[in-house]
Amino acid sequence: MSSPSAPSPVRSPARARTGVSFAARLAFEDVSHRFTGETAALDRVSLAAEPGEVLCLLGPSGSGKTTLLRIAAGIEVQSAGRVLLNNREIAGPSVFLPPEQRSIGLVFQDFALFPHLTILDNVRFGLTALSREEARREAMVALSRVGLEGYAGAYPHVLSGGEQQRVALARALAPRPAVLLMDEPFSGLDSRLKDAVRAETLAILRQSRATAIIVTHDAEEAMRMADRIALLKDGRLVQAGPAQELYQAPRDLFVAGFFSELNVFEARVAGGWVETPVGRFVAPALEEGAPATVAVRLSDIEVAERTGEVPARVLSRRFLGVVELVEMAIPGAEEPIRARVRFGALPTKARDIWLSVRKSDVLVFERRGESA
Ligand code: ATP
Repeated sequence: MSSPSAPSPVRSPARARTGVSFAARLAFEDVSHRFTGETAALDRVSLAAEPGEVLCLLGPSGSGKTTLLRIAAGIEVQSAGRVLLNNREIAGPSVFLPPEQRSIGLVFQDFALFPHLTILDNVRFGLTALSREEARREAMVALSRVGLEGYAGAYPHVLSGGEQQRVALARALAPRPAVLLMDEPFSGLDSRLKDAVRAETLAILRQSRATAIIVTHDAEEAMRMADRIALLKDGRLVQAGPAQELYQAPRDLFVAGFFSELNVFEARVAGGWVETPVGRFVAPALEEGAPATVAVRLSDIEVAERTGEVPARVLSRRFLGVVELVEMAIPGAEEPIRARVRFGALPTKARDIWLSVRKSDVLVFERRGESA
């Protein structure tokens, strides 16, 4: 926030005092947290959201996403490690900056709007540093940013879920925070509304230039929203990177399984290869004799009526729109093999067919008893 004694020559005083979002870097350094008992909710997590970046915290239920967000906000105090904002410690062994001094905005899953306040007053709520008139003006700016200035005098109950989510976003952005934290912000919306609200939210985040950390358990949502994704499991950071990196070069079967549906086979490395019922694949990174897990994405299997590498018998087909889900039995595999193929690739009555695997996309991991 800029000092009132040094007003900007360009911006209006009201704007200068509310502070344009100068995106900040928020970093977690070796953050661990234990609520009670033996199990750590977070275990030495080191991760940073870079200035202006949209970082998604992704992981199954109980993996520690919300806890990490609450620690960033200052609602929860970590058991060990540090949180830094622009390289300045805001929570650590000797420092604890309270939430209201962190320049961090929050959007919760349930929007948490005050039902007895108008939309305008809900948005104005956090602008206590401004005069009443300036706060009103800034709240209107924030509301028009989310396209809801027309509802300023209405009460939350008249708005749809998507609109309430936008009000919550406007309220969080109105003080122009350096970092915006969003906990499952779209989970209360029905699926048709979700796409539009996600796209709008992303556009607003880009415009506001705030660094954003979004919690989700939905891999597709993370891929749509994030510049980078951090995948958590059992309180540990498993892998962080752009969506494409996590999808194409997953560190283990857990990461691969989080981003795509897989057919999984167990094998053992022999002469640099692994042998499975759907074909032989190279395993250059693994030692001779090592137990391996071979993962083939449903979308990496092609089917044809007359030619292919492995004979297959169709067990079931399910129409999904552009694609269909085909379940097949093949020699040597106890479980059915599943494929997502372009609708129309197989004649309706096809029964004995052929499948082929796109070899370059097959994933081979060393087997360490992990579960998908
Ligand atoms: P979800 O997607 O279900 O919200 P999450 O990944 O956000 O899950 P957290 O809510 O951070 O996970 O929880 C991590 C672990 O900490 C879980 O085992 C959870 O039961 C535990 N936990 C969270 N909050 C508390 C609390 N207030 N007291 C005790 N244990 C807690």
